[in-house]
Amino acid sequence: MIRFALHGGAGVIERSRLSADREADYRHTMEEITQQAKQRLLDGESAAAVVEQAVISLEESPLFNAGYGSVLNADGVVEMDAAIMDGEGRRCGAVAAIARVAHPVSVARALMDEGVHVLLAGRGAQRFAVEQGFALLREEQLIIPERQQQLLAARAENRVSLDHDQDVAPFDPDDITGTVGAVARDLNGGLAAATSTGGMTNKHPGRVGDSPLIGAGTWADNQSVCVSATGHGEYFIRGQVAYDIHAQMTYANASLAAAAASVLSRVGAMGGSGGLIAIDREGQLALPFNSAGMYRAWFGADQVVRVAIYGDE
Ligand code: ASP
Repeated sequence: MIRFALHGGAGVIERSRLSADREADYRHTMEEITQQAKQRLLDGESAAAVVEQAVISLEESPLFNAGYGSVLNADGVVEMDAAIMDGEGRRCGAVAAIARVAHPVSVARALMDEGVHVLLAGRGAQRFAVEQGFALLREEQLIIPERQQQLLAARAENRVSLDHDQDVAPFDPDDITGTVGAVARDLNGGLAAATSTGGMTNKHPGRVGDSPLIGAGTWADNQSVCVSATGHGEYFIRGQVAYDIHAQMTYANASLAAAAASVLSRVGAMGGSGGLIAIDREGQLALPFNSAGMYRAWFGADQVVRVAIYGDE
């Protein structure tokens, strides 16, 4: 009973703002990565291995705000957050505000596998990556030109923006991309989640979002659910979104759909927008969002890979 879902971020994503070519690129990339994940799961790979690999592929794509193509902070620097959680024994690892690595999710995975610490930040996280044999890139190797334009525009308006909300003038409508995440259920019923992001454009250096915070943007427990969130991180931290879904399912016997909807509506009531992907131990999927759209791809019980972007799909 394998299952898989990925997201490429949530935000102001509307048909009028996305060119046909760009939309096709997104759909093709998400579909391909989901097909690969399906094959890996069919081959018997663990959920943790599959979500890590899916997020590596998304980090490699300049379409998304993670790894290569991450948004820039107020200093014009890429600082990334990532986490991975294996629902088997709640093993997890996360890195926050890490610079100069190609795959923050793999550094998080190395931390999880080492089993000593759960979360490393900033220079310490970077040092751990080097100790583990990850290559240190030059800062500019992660930067794409669109991100510099987005930062200049955000600075001019003195705002910190969600990646997908940057497609308002003066940004090019095609410049929208987003945080990434994946959730999976493997052949043995193992659940896992991973999330990776450059955060928000023009964020304060050192700012940490929800993605690397276990229980906020990322969560997995084989007894309940795996979750990867995307959206305005401060609200997802305040809402303890991912753990709250687990808690409602575990302590109040809520269904995944009901728990996810209630958590997101509370985020919305606080003024936050975004979405999440989740799979429960029975193989139910939920992909709710309260933003205009969310890049997403998945397959459920029928094993048919589906891709969607807008709110009405
Ligand atoms: N949640 C991410 C953050 O706040 C941003 C996003 O999902 O696009 O860092």
